[in-house]
Amino acid sequence: MNILVTGGMGYIGSHTCLALYKAGFTPIIYDNLSNSSIKVLEQLKIIANHTFEFVEGDINDRDKLEATLNDYNIKAVFHFASLKAVGKSTEQPLRYYDNNVSGTVTLLTAMQKSAVKQIIFSSSATVYGDPQYLPIDEKHPITATNPYGWTKVMVEQILNDWCLANEQNLAIALRYFNPAGAHPSGLLGESPTGIPNNLMPYISQTAVGQREFVNIFGNDYDTEDGTGVRDYIHIMDLAEGHVAAFSTHQKDSGSLVYNLGTGKGYTVLEIITAFSSSANVEINYKFAPRRAGDIASNFANASLAQEKLGWKAKLNIKAMTDDTWRWQSKYPNGLED
Ligand code: NAD
Ligand code: UDP
Repeated sequence: MNILVTGGMGYIGSHTCLALYKAGFTPIIYDNLSNSSIKVLEQLKIIANHTFEFVEGDINDRDKLEATLNDYNIKAVFHFASLKAVGKSTEQPLRYYDNNVSGTVTLLTAMQKSAVKQIIFSSSATVYGDPQYLPIDEKHPITATNPYGWTKVMVEQILNDWCLANEQNLAIALRYFNPAGAHPSGLLGESPTGIPNNLMPYISQTAVGQREFVNIFGNDYDTEDGTGVRDYIHIMDLAEGHVAAFSTHQKDSGSLVYNLGTGKGYTVLEIITAFSSSANVEINYKFAPRRAGDIASNFANASLAQEKLGWKAKLNIKAMTDDTWRWQSKYPNGLED
């Protein structure tokens, strides 16, 4: 079965293509390469011993999307394509709404025209805003604190309405907690452009000497050691969560939502310690003021996915830091070098 994977050259999409292929599906990658390298294709080929189909295109290009959906006889879409930098989204809100929201409307319009009725969407735990209770389950109210977060809330609403309008449509929004780690081969991982916003790539760049020290944003939170707590989930587990969601609901319809997390939170200091031990290097850090908009703690109640999808995260923090280190030390400057 052919599945269109928008954003399939990116961090989460590329790992999910491997999981899809392993499960017997045929991913067709559709990406405009705005935040990824064409070299991902070579890495995928080495890992899977398979040449993945790639179409260079934008999700705002309806003609190209329609042609791709028809040419490849696509049955379902895994929709990862989006811009994801929270800070940039506040500076360039229109660019974010255009890419993430208009792009999704264009994608759904093309799907409708080509009678493709199933979509798996990359949502985020950011839709829970500042948690009212922990662990967060799917019934927690949703909101947003920045334009990026609003694009996720808006797309979830659009998917809901799209399903209400046609009872055969299926939309599954997967709310990721904090994706981390890399492929265990060290051949594929996350290589953010510019200064990383996220903790794990910032630590790994510090470990290879590209950054002098990690700024720890806040050490006065109401947590075990005063630093922020997050639910880090290994990219391989996350990828498998997508396959589990699609395989379980392939014959269903309607609008569904699942948290993909481990259910356990770690502090920033715990992550730095784990990384230090994986890389066998001292990682320098300094305490800095809290980052605007940050929350103290965030972790998932992941029991719905376990109950309905039979999926549970298996890999621990050590696997995340070991695998990130393998990737970062093999490709300190990402695949472009
Ligand atoms: P990424 O930037 O590595 O991958 C996104 C891919 O989409 C890139 O390859 C990019 O070139 C492509 N893309 C962007 N706009 C496009 C467009 N208009 N047309 C075609 N391709 C386009 O990001 P990622 O970390 O793999 O994230 C994947 C999805 O998961 C995104 O929707 C993101 O918002 C969501 N998400 C990510 C995280 C995280 O921490 N990484 C957390 C929660 C949710
Ligand atoms: N963080 C930090 N220094 C950094 C980046 C992140 O101390 O350079 C902290 C941040 O305050 C939060 C945690 O690490 O407590 C995870 O941050 P990230 O941006 O990776 O994820 P998010 O905040 O979106 O959950």
